[in-house]
Amino acid sequence: MSKLPADRSESVFKDFKKPYNKTQAFVEANRCLYCFDAPCITACPTSIDVPQFIRRIANDNVKGAARTIFDSNILGMSCARVCPVEVLCVGSCVYNNEDVPPIQIGKLQRYATDQAFEKGWHFYEAGADTGKKVALVGGGPASLSAAHRLRRYGHSVTIFDRANTLGGLNTTGVAPYKMKADKALEEVEWILSIGGIEIRTGVDIPTDHSWEQLQADFDAIFIGFGLGNDSYMDVPNSDAKGIFGAVDYIANMKLENVDVSDVQDAVVIGGGNTAVDAVRELAGLGIPNVYMVYRGDEEKMSGYAHEWVEAKKENVLGYWRSQPVAFIAEKGRVIGVTCLEMDENKKPIPGSEFAIGADLVLLAIGQGKQGALASSLSGLEIEWGKIVVDANGATGCEGVFAGGDCINGGKEVVN
Ligand code: SF4
Repeated sequence: MSKLPADRSESVFKDFKKPYNKTQAFVEANRCLYCFDAPCITACPTSIDVPQFIRRIANDNVKGAARTIFDSNILGMSCARVCPVEVLCVGSCVYNNEDVPPIQIGKLQRYATDQAFEKGWHFYEAGADTGKKVALVGGGPASLSAAHRLRRYGHSVTIFDRANTLGGLNTTGVAPYKMKADKALEEVEWILSIGGIEIRTGVDIPTDHSWEQLQADFDAIFIGFGLGNDSYMDVPNSDAKGIFGAVDYIANMKLENVDVSDVQDAVVIGGGNTAVDAVRELAGLGIPNVYMVYRGDEEKMSGYAHEWVEAKKENVLGYWRSQPVAFIAEKGRVIGVTCLEMDENKKPIPGSEFAIGADLVLLAIGQGKQGALASSLSGLEIEWGKIVVDANGATGCEGVFAGGDCINGGKEVVN
């Protein structure tokens, strides 16, 4: 596993939610009503038995609580930090209907899973060898959790990742005030500690190892390679220095040191969660003026509203109904973005051109789907760039399964 530099840029960020101490966890756990048909279970994509793990914390059985969480979701530690609980479990807590603060399920989950990591609790062993071999393509959350489960069933597994660092977007993409890269790698190590998971990083499928070879060498293949590269804009001066894909830039900020000392004005183009994360991260790095430019309305942006509220507190400003039509460059470097105002039907308003100064521009307008890569394996069905699977994750290609962002188009880690 590659070592991360101590002075990487993300190290300046503090945890945005303070963890519970024992008393706080005990008090919060005892507020839970342990509802029958608890809506918080249904709201969790991994159906964690929330009332059970909370009851265990209330009974001072933290180890049992951690076990309940990991039984449903082996990525329970990172999900406790990165899940948008406001729109999942916490958002569905019955207390919301009674004007009482909802149970802080994410913080309780963090309390239990952090202790598991700190105290070195391991709950699972590899099953008896079945003699079956599975190749997992991609080393992000989907493949890691699949690999762990497959080892519990006794299958032999090998993870292939073209990157040198495992964990996928959990390592390279999570906002550092939620979780830093070293914590994500700690989770990777914890998952790998089940033993018998072979790792082959720096290997690109199908360039270095063909699909046919994988099919010949393994009994089954799991595709969990996530999404493709950042999408770019085909407008004048889009190749100017200082313009980056947001996912790429965030990965550099998390794994290395990015110098923003000479950046006064930064523009993030997009209105999704990557855009909202990016503006908050740029503001957190100390850039004085950070703007989000989105062609829709503030109320209709797809980024989480609760995150945008926080961004505004950090002095980020939004330009709504604004469509970038060109970058302004000087001596090959970006110095601004030219935009047109849009009407309510998202049509540009003639003559409404205006410019925003920018020394740094991040494009958060989506990532390419891996349709081209996936279609290099014959028999796979691709729809809108996503791999089509049945309810069991099986593709139309015999012995080939898929999960995670490459089937859902890009969702939360918990999905
Ligand atoms: Fe507890 Fe709220 Fe879930 Fe009910 S809905 S079990 S009160 S966390």
